[in-house]
Amino acid sequence: MPYPQIVPTIEKAPDDKTWLLTVQCPFCTKQHTHGGGSDLEPGLFGTRGAHCQSGDGMYELVAPDSKT
Ligand SMILES: [Zn+2]
Repeated sequence: MPYPQIVPTIEKAPDDKTWLLTVQCPFCTKQHTHGGGSDLEPGLFGTRGAHCQSGDGMYELVAPDSKT
């Protein structure tokens, strides 16, 4: 079964270097924040484990400009 795909909200961390990818969790409906790297453009999209789930609670972070 494919993981749910979520387009995260992207913002800079308070240090102004690190990207934060915030998603509304499909499992618990709360917001979880994942690190998106510290390059010029946000990265590190892909499959992540939901912080609230142990085991198989996974979703896929999709870049907002992704056409797929
Ligand atoms: Zn959750």
